[in-house]
Amino acid sequence: MINYDAIIIGTGQAGPSLARRLAGSGMKVAIIERDRFGGTCVNTGCTPTKTLVASAHAVHLARRGADFGFSTGGEIKVDMKRVKARKDHVVGLSNSGVERSLTTLENASVYRGHARFVSPHEVEVGSEILGADRIFINVGGRATVPDMPGLDGIDYLTNSSMVDLDVLPRHLLVVGGSYIGLEFGQMYRRFGSAVTVAEMGPRLVGREDEDVSAELAAFLTREGVDLRLNAKCISVSKQDGDIVMGLDCTEGAPAVRGSHLLLAVGRRPNTDDLGLDRAGVRQDARGYIEVDDELRTNVAGIWALGDCNGRGAFTHTAYNDYEIVAANLLDGDRRRVSDRIPAYALYTDPPLGRVGMTETEVLRSGRRALVGKIAMADVSRAFEKGETDGFMKVLVDAESKEILGASFLGTSGDEAIHCVLDTMYAKAPYTILQRAVHIHPTVAEFIPTILGDLAPLATRST
Ligand SMILES: Cc1cc2nc3c(=O)[nH]c(=O)nc-3n(C[C@H](O)[C@H](O)[C@H](O)COP(=O)(O)OP(=O)(O)OC[C@H]3O[C@@H](n4cnc5c(N)ncnc54)[C@H](O)[C@@H]3O)c2cc1C
Repeated sequence: MINYDAIIIGTGQAGPSLARRLAGSGMKVAIIERDRFGGTCVNTGCTPTKTLVASAHAVHLARRGADFGFSTGGEIKVDMKRVKARKDHVVGLSNSGVERSLTTLENASVYRGHARFVSPHEVEVGSEILGADRIFINVGGRATVPDMPGLDGIDYLTNSSMVDLDVLPRHLLVVGGSYIGLEFGQMYRRFGSAVTVAEMGPRLVGREDEDVSAELAAFLTREGVDLRLNAKCISVSKQDGDIVMGLDCTEGAPAVRGSHLLLAVGRRPNTDDLGLDRAGVRQDARGYIEVDDELRTNVAGIWALGDCNGRGAFTHTAYNDYEIVAANLLDGDRRRVSDRIPAYALYTDPPLGRVGMTETEVLRSGRRALVGKIAMADVSRAFEKGETDGFMKVLVDAESKEILGASFLGTSGDEAIHCVLDTMYAKAPYTILQRAVHIHPTVAEFIPTILGDLAPLATRST
């Protein structure tokens, strides 16, 4: 057995930074990775998808040339091999950067292979057994493959294989009308595929407010994405080389024929083959590792960070997990998960920036609240850019004057939302933000305007 001060399993968004901090403090550290350095975000998640979204946005703007006063002198043709090459270049920079930073790290040894616990403080990788008093699990998650009738024998895509496609699907069938499904669906429609998105629920991204779902559905439909909601009995079969997706037993066309199938129905943690039982680490019913507010598992000396602990599903939450663990362990600074305000974005175009509670959650909480909302068509910067889909909405506690949440679905919504997020972290009343003088012309300059025109929540419908 080789002994270390600390073992880190996984090189996603928490592991590498933690490795640098621990090794920098003089500890002897082992880092284990079974696949590509940088994990999901770098290789099959955020980085490739946002790079592809950028290509799709450029194609979309080129097609709208006439709106902006230019013509391209012919049909816009997308070369998926070059789109993928651009994506590979961007991903490659991040991926090799993570690998280099770890393999050259002083006090650290990198092991390539699948790690499994053999006891609470021993991990096997290949033929080696590594031991440490401190073990940090950062194993992330992977796409869920649903138990769907007919799926056996069908070649399907997930987010991982989808970002490696270098051909244009004639007709992309997407199962799942939520964050990942909509990003890919809109992107491929813009690249030139016919796209059908099948969603079992009555609306898109069911976790968001109804006005968000409706606006998303409106602009995606305008772009030609075929949305099939309430698709209660999705099944797949193969016919003459095509994939036929059975949709609904009651309304609309009962089936759609396509060339490629993308499954985007959620993610599951990579905890099923980790030997957690041999370490005695507790998981919940869905396989997420149970942790306390400082990310400690029930076993002393074992922590779980990132998507595998079920306390966040984003790169910034995984990275914040690293900050929490490092602060508690090395800095004597008591940071906790519960200090974190929920925030994320959906990268359709325009994007959705979200912080805190939705309107539905505020209503459910029963508190007295105020709401302000503005259509992007009334935001001068959006108007000038010719990108007027969406709206911005802010919710405020009527008594404390603290901001409860916001949904910015519109151009630059993913950036402008940070004005609201930072005000919430400052625990400042909304009036501070209302009186801030923002730069003209920006999307963010309308946040004070929204806050100056709040109305009691119950009187406005979502
Ligand atoms: C399509 C898509 C788009 C996304 N877009 C965004 C976005 O725009 N913004 C955002 O914030 N988040 C986004 N996410 C989510 C984000 O990618 C994840 O939240 C983030 O990567 C989680 O990081 P992590 O450190 O928990 O794990 P991961 O990044 O998943 O890394 C885990 C690592 O552990 C390794 N591993 C697993 N098991 C073992 C084992 N037994 N032994 C050794 N190594 C192991 C894996 O190979 C992997 O490298 C997206 C996700 C997807 C799928």
